[in-house]
Amino acid sequence: MTAPALGEPGTLRIARTLTSTVSEGPGRRSAVWVQGCTIRCPGCFNPQLWTSRGGVVVDTVEFSETTLREALAAGVEGVTLLGGEPFEQAAPLALLGERFRAEGLSVMTFTGYEYADLLTWSAERADIAALLDATDLLADGPFLADRLDSTRPWIGSTNQSLRPLTERYRNELAHDLPPDRVEVTIDPAGRIAVNGWADLDALDGLLDGLGTRARM
Ligand code: SF4
Repeated sequence: MTAPALGEPGTLRIARTLTSTVSEGPGRRSAVWVQGCTIRCPGCFNPQLWTSRGGVVVDTVEFSETTLREALAAGVEGVTLLGGEPFEQAAPLALLGERFRAEGLSVMTFTGYEYADLLTWSAERADIAALLDATDLLADGPFLADRLDSTRPWIGSTNQSLRPLTERYRNELAHDLPPDRVEVTIDPAGRIAVNGWADLDALDGLLDGLGTRARM
């Protein structure tokens, strides 16, 4: 795999946000789905997030401050960065993560890249090093549809790893982890959105009547 392209530090291309969810990492968290992923795992649950032409482009600083303010008001313990591919927008997401960490909140980052590769690239790529530095818990590795993982929460296949990069979640990962959860959100305009992770049969049954999917 080759290193992700350099992101534009001043802007972020965002697909979706949630201020509060219990399905995208430890505890109750905000979640930011970025738009764009060149890894393109067969069987990816979010192929609509592959293109870098979709979503909305936001100013990194303004978006970070707004997302942080809403997260603090909601009383969540951190933010989860997923997509799409966060490391293809590593510079702006590192800024966002640093703002959350400065307020005592945690950062979980999903990536389809392998941690060993990210570490190698980080020696010459300040943006990758900065996002790794801003991350407490990393879920890494591509999704492999023929290696589904039904035992660990949040991640999809057995090749993927949950790595504590700081002490924040090290103990939690060594003990009982919560089950996978699916959340259905209906906004004031009646739009339905789904996030989280579940057994594929259960998810298909749920999504049959909703016509949407979401997850990395
Ligand atoms: S599973 Fe994640 S890394 Fe793989 S194609 Fe989908 S968004 Fe990209």
